[in-house]
Amino acid sequence: MTVHAFPQLEIPETLAAGPGPGNTDARVLARFAAAGVADHMQPDVLRGMVECKHMLREIWGTDNVHTFGAAGTGWTALDMMFSAVRPGDKVVAFANGTFSGIDALTLRLKAATERELASSPMDPQAASVTVIEVPHGQSVSLAEIETALAEHQPKWAFMAHWETGSGRINDLKGFSDACDRHGVLGLVDAVSSLGVEDFRIDDYPGVAGWASCPQKGICCLPLTYAPVSFTDRFIDSLKETGAATYANHPIFEARHWGIIEGEDVEKGTYHRTHSGYAVAAFHESLRLTLEQTVAKRAAEYARHEAVLRDVLETMGCEVTSNMTSLVVLNLPGDMAGREMELVQHCRAQNFGIWPTLSAPVQIRIGILNQLNRRAIEEIATRFAQAIRDLGGKANQADINDVLHNHYGVACAAE
Ligand SMILES: *Cc1c(COP(=O)(O)O)cnc(C)c1O
Repeated sequence: MTVHAFPQLEIPETLAAGPGPGNTDARVLARFAAAGVADHMQPDVLRGMVECKHMLREIWGTDNVHTFGAAGTGWTALDMMFSAVRPGDKVVAFANGTFSGIDALTLRLKAATERELASSPMDPQAASVTVIEVPHGQSVSLAEIETALAEHQPKWAFMAHWETGSGRINDLKGFSDACDRHGVLGLVDAVSSLGVEDFRIDDYPGVAGWASCPQKGICCLPLTYAPVSFTDRFIDSLKETGAATYANHPIFEARHWGIIEGEDVEKGTYHRTHSGYAVAAFHESLRLTLEQTVAKRAAEYARHEAVLRDVLETMGCEVTSNMTSLVVLNLPGDMAGREMELVQHCRAQNFGIWPTLSAPVQIRIGILNQLNRRAIEEIATRFAQAIRDLGGKANQADINDVLHNHYGVACAAE
C-alpha cells in the first residue's frame, strides 16, 4: 500500500490557560526561529550553553556547579535526578497529587530490586520505598514529614514544591530542615515553581537535587532544556554508587555544559547532539527572566492570581488551590459535576483550560506568562461565557466590577 504525504500540518493558535505549557514568549520563539544551522560543537552553540549555565545559577540562586539543562521536559530532569536512586535504596516520598504521584512511581521504578521490578514491571512495589499519600487538595504537613523521616531514616526523601495536579504549595523550608535534621538527601520536583516563586536553592541546604522544566515559569519551549541543580553531596553519592544511564547521567551530561570533574571549564565536550535552536531559545528565556527578575515576576503572579480568584469566586466557584500561577476550582453548586463538560467546551474553542487528572474532577486555569490585565480579562470573560453557554449564571457586569476594583477603570494604566 502506498501512503501519500498528508497535507501540511496546521496547528492553531490557542489560549494556553492551563497548568503548563505556558505561552512561550514571543522573544523566545523569535530566537528559536533565527538560529542558523550549526552543529552541537560549533563555538557559539557551546558558548551559549556555558552562558545558560551561568544565568541559570543566578536565577535559581545557587553556587551548585552542577546546574544546567537536561534536554527534554520536566520528566527528563526528574528522571536525571532520580537516576541517583539505586535498587534497594531507602526512600520516603510524599505524594499529594498527580505529579508527585508519578514522581513516587518513578522512585519505585528506580529503587525496586530486580525481583520486585520483574514481579510488577509497570508498578513495582519496592519494599524500600515508603509513599506517604496526602489527600488531593491538601499540602504535605510538617508533622507528616517529621514523623516519616524519623521513623524510616531513609537515604532519600522526595517532595514536590508546587503540586500542579491539585494546585497546592508544599513547605520547602520545613522539608529542607527536616532533611538536614535527619541527614537525608532531599529531592524536589520544582517543575512548576521555578520562575514563578521567588526562592533561592542555597537557602535550602537539606535539598540535594532539584528538577524543573522549560515550558512553565521559564517561558521557553517544551523539549528544549529542563533545568536541574545538584549539590556536591548529591554528586558525591552518585560517584560512589553510579547510575544506570548514559544519556541522562548528571555527571556525563554536565560535561557538554562545561562542567568537568566538578569544575567549570571554558567550553563543553561532547556528550550528545544538542540543538542550536534549543540552546538559542533557552538562552533567550533565561535572559528574559533575569531582565524581568524572578522577584518582580513572583509579585505579578500573586497580583493577577488574586484577581482571577476573586472573579471566579464572584461567579460562585470554590477555589481550593494556593499556587499563584494556577487556580483550581469547583463549579458553583448548580453546575457541580459538569467540570469535565465545561473544560471540553472551552477546549473546543481553543481556550485551553484543564481538568484535574486525578479524582475528584476539578477545573484548572493557569496564567503562565499571562501577566497583564488584558490577558486576565480575556480568561475571565471567556470562562464566564462558557458557564453561560452551559446554562449557568455568570453576570458579566459583576465580573467587570471585580476587574475594575482590582485594576482601576478600563483604559487606566495597569
Ligand atoms: C508539569 C509537571 C511535571 C511534568 O513535566 P513535563 O514537562 O510534562 O515533563 C512534573 N511535575 C510537576 C510538579 C509538574 O507541574
